[in-house]
Amino acid sequence: MPTAVRPTPPLPGLTVRRAALLGWFARAGRATLPWRLGEAGARDPYRVWVAEILLQQTQVVRGLEYYGRFLNAFPTVEALAAAPEADVLKAWEGCGYYARARNLRRAAGVIVQEGFPQDYAGWLALPGVGPYTAAAVSSLAYGEARAVNDGNVRRVLARLYAEAVPTDAWVQARADELLDSARPGDWNEAVMDLGATVCTPKAPRCSECPWRDFCAAFASGTPTAFPVPKVRAAVREVRAVAVIAGDLREAVLERREGALLGGLSGLPTEELAAAEAPAAGLARLCARLGAVPGAHLGTVVHAMTHRRVILEVYAAQSDAARTPVARAALSRLDHKALALLAPWQAGLFGPE
Ligand code: SF4
Repeated sequence: MPTAVRPTPPLPGLTVRRAALLGWFARAGRATLPWRLGEAGARDPYRVWVAEILLQQTQVVRGLEYYGRFLNAFPTVEALAAAPEADVLKAWEGCGYYARARNLRRAAGVIVQEGFPQDYAGWLALPGVGPYTAAAVSSLAYGEARAVNDGNVRRVLARLYAEAVPTDAWVQARADELLDSARPGDWNEAVMDLGATVCTPKAPRCSECPWRDFCAAFASGTPTAFPVPKVRAAVREVRAVAVIAGDLREAVLERREGALLGGLSGLPTEELAAAEAPAAGLARLCARLGAVPGAHLGTVVHAMTHRRVILEVYAAQSDAARTPVARAALSRLDHKALALLAPWQAGLFGPE
């Protein structure tokens, strides 16, 4: 990272900027990612679509594992369309934002009936597909000249032009102008790769950057000052109690609602009111379930995008129907809670 301030260099023409980035991409792009099989512009739309949806809220390293698991379970759009929702959610387990998985399955049903959309507008019309995904799939699978605009693109372009507060419209206009319409798939992947591997949020590796000689943020001496970070929504703390009525093989589970975890199964849970004691929530939860409360198994602290959940987990006895745990799609929070039972089942702890 530079420390000295230099005069802002003049921007060279579009041809020079494009050649610099595409040359770098040919040498250093992430060519081995599994959804990049085949030439950009003629990729398998199913693989590109699944990858782009999955990677929206997931880092690439973790996404690789989830992508392999999902493609293994549903190797074709027909397989995805025919699968029960519970199986799709199970294959999506751990990825979060489960509305994405439900929308993938719904959109697969449309594609099986109508065929893969052949252009941006067709992709945009599918459930769960926004402008970013539509631009990515139409450029990477069909060679349509559509520039993607996501967090990586926003950061890279804000720095190239030293724009502190880039609006969506500003980013899209710059991205559209820079797009190499002869190679839109390569171009979009090159910008994404530059943002993911070189022009990273906290420690850009400007010495390796193909745009360093004309990057205004680099010349300023403080590239990370661009763009100014967005104000994040405050993280809400949620306190709750949950019960494990059963064991690690079979337990009483309930269906979760809401966009984040909707459709998943989960341990019966009750949110606590402000300053409410866990014992009061446990009593309310057990009354609802017709269960008898048991030992306190432990506390799970789990960070989600805008929430920090503190979950007090108890054993309970209940005659309610149990579900095989291994077959249920569960959130990471529920897996953490269930893990508290393991030492108790192994006989390491006695009852309180
Ligand atoms: S020179 Fe540095 S700040 Fe500018 S685009 Fe490259 S990595 Fe980002």
